[in-house]
Amino acid sequence: MEQVILRSSFEEVNDQVARAGSLLGLHPGIIDVLTSCEREAVIAIPMYDDEGNIEVLSGYRVQHSSARGPRKGGIRFHQTVNLDETRALASLMTWKTALVDVPFGGAKGGVAVDASKLSPRRKEQIIRRWTRSLVEMLGQNRDIPAPDLGTDAQTMAWFLDEYQRLEGFQPACVTGKPLELFGAPGREEATGRGVAGITRAALEHDGRSAKGARVAIQGFGNVGRFAARTFSELGMKVVAIADVTGGIVDQAGLDVLELISYPDLSYAPTGDRIGSTDVLEIDCDVLIPAALGGVITDANVDRLRCEYLIEAANHPTTSTADASLRKRGITIVPDILANSGGVLGSYFEWTQNIQEFRWPLQRFRDELDARMAIAFATTVETADHYGVDLRTAAFVVSVKRVAEAFTLRGTLA
Ligand code: NAD
Repeated sequence: MEQVILRSSFEEVNDQVARAGSLLGLHPGIIDVLTSCEREAVIAIPMYDDEGNIEVLSGYRVQHSSARGPRKGGIRFHQTVNLDETRALASLMTWKTALVDVPFGGAKGGVAVDASKLSPRRKEQIIRRWTRSLVEMLGQNRDIPAPDLGTDAQTMAWFLDEYQRLEGFQPACVTGKPLELFGAPGREEATGRGVAGITRAALEHDGRSAKGARVAIQGFGNVGRFAARTFSELGMKVVAIADVTGGIVDQAGLDVLELISYPDLSYAPTGDRIGSTDVLEIDCDVLIPAALGGVITDANVDRLRCEYLIEAANHPTTSTADASLRKRGITIVPDILANSGGVLGSYFEWTQNIQEFRWPLQRFRDELDARMAIAFATTVETADHYGVDLRTAAFVVSVKRVAEAFTLRGTLA
């Protein structure tokens, strides 16, 4: 019987890096460098819970690479956060920032805690404590956090305030901030807008029109909501959406603008109810996982009924599920390309903070659309050149850039 070897998230990302490295003919020692993390911090966050008991949460910051610039990556508050996943997500940030050619490296952080059960006060205490514990590693030229699952603009405002108390005024120390506190118009929508733009590009590349294409979305937070809004602006039909409370489906098309007005989908009055994971198996043209990682696995891959899988979430597809989808002819646009609008938007915010100069929204959108179009075209050209899938191609582009920067620095001495 064939033995199935389960790979951890970090190992799965490293398999991609190694594959790209060998296509590029990189020295095995360089591949070893690119599959290691520069620095990892694990911290204890002792807290009083709402009943006055002491509990100790685990917090993380992993810095994967600074070869191309200061490390960049979100802070996640979720009960599943752990060191291996944080390493994988930090590494993905390195490849994402290289793919869209912004002067950053990669990092990721988080706290293992159920954000949905936190009062605003507890959330504030946790992010302030996280910031104090890690302050030496952070800063606009060292490592710049941003929101991720379970954190938002308010969380980044608390981070900014705590950082300023310790290190002085430095608005570029974090991105994804509120507009009233050095945020950039356009950043909040950037990831979702980018996901929709890449979806359109993928359809049009195959000679298909985005108009009328049927989309199903898992996740209705920052990414899912803005993606849904942009899909409906493009004339696409959103036929199913789910969040942690469950989902709704209507093959005639859901009223996205109405749904966006609700805090979560349990308030949705119309459409047939489905479960949070059923949405992945809905008959559609385009499937958008925009919630957790690891949701498309050997257990459900055969039940997917889409033609395009656009990875808005980070690392939603295991490598064996990826292989089986490709065998069925399903086009997969990988996370490091599909959701790179977020880090591009963060780069624009960081740039504006450093220059103390605010761009108009239209300039932000135009720069975002143009740079994502370049990243898509470069990935497609590379896929054609090497005869590989889009994920492998995206890694080839980014691994080449990071390996070149690392080698030019001569940091082996
Ligand atoms: P968010 O916290 O704003 O929203 C998460 C959404 O997922 C919520 O609607 C929540 O209800 C839903 N969800 C959680 N658990 C679920 C489950 N078990 N089943 C179905 N739905 C579930 O987070 P976000 O910022 O929108 O991030 C979503 C994904 O996109 C994450 O993987 C994140 O790493 C990735 N991402 C985010 C950004 C960004 O700019 N926010 C950028 C790049 C990638």
